[in-house]
Amino acid sequence: MAAKICEGKTKKVFAAENDGSKVIIFFKDDITAFNGKRHDIIPEKGAISAYISSAIFKLLNENGVKTHFIEYIPPNKMLAWKLNMIPLEIVCRNIATGSLLKRLPMLKKGERLKKPIIEFFYKSDELGDPLLNECHLEYIVNREAIEEMKQITLKANEILKKFFEELGFTLVDFKLEFGTTMQGELMIGDELTCDTMRLWINGESFDKDIYRRGGSPEDVLKAYRKVYEAIKERIELK
Ligand code: UDP
Repeated sequence: MAAKICEGKTKKVFAAENDGSKVIIFFKDDITAFNGKRHDIIPEKGAISAYISSAIFKLLNENGVKTHFIEYIPPNKMLAWKLNMIPLEIVCRNIATGSLLKRLPMLKKGERLKKPIIEFFYKSDELGDPLLNECHLEYIVNREAIEEMKQITLKANEILKKFFEELGFTLVDFKLEFGTTMQGELMIGDELTCDTMRLWINGESFDKDIYRRGGSPEDVLKAYRKVYEAIKERIELK
């Protein structure tokens, strides 16, 4: 097995053999919430997440939104470009819910936003991923990169909103992470799965909120499987 580069709560990243510009991302069966305070292993989750992330990134790549995705490696891995990750979490919201309600209490849960809201958080478990404003951001990345990340996120949102609508789901919100290649090209990295986006059908969750609210691993798997099956109908990966 190739050398492990890093390991997080739900993924391991390995160097791709004979190519320093690529990595293999291994999706674990772990699920965590509340900064790791709740933790379970859900057999099959890694494979489902690898498929969902690969399919969505493929869709984005084909629609002019660059991601690090190169190839799905069944059942639970993804070949990707090696990125130098920017320590930011970019959240894009179409519907008011979650932590947004604490900042904008005049919004009702489930209310459609007038236009998508983009928020930047500093990626740090230790600090609890604090929300950043534009002034803070300039200490992390330059202005052009901030603007580019915003535009890419909005474009990804349009593509994904339409895609999920056609599958019968409402894309409520999602989180992206960005990085740069060895050539300095900015693109989406990390993952896009039921752990990092909210999907509703008539207000019912088909994402990690089930687990955050105390749902069982079986309930989580059932919902993730439904999303996986719907995506698989549309995007067949070999
Ligand atoms: N999100 C994520 N990782 C995080 C925080 C949020 O993937 O560390 C995703 C989350 O799944 C949702 C969106 O970002 O799709 C917005 O999350 P919010 O800030 O509302 O999170 P909450 O505080 O409700 O968990």
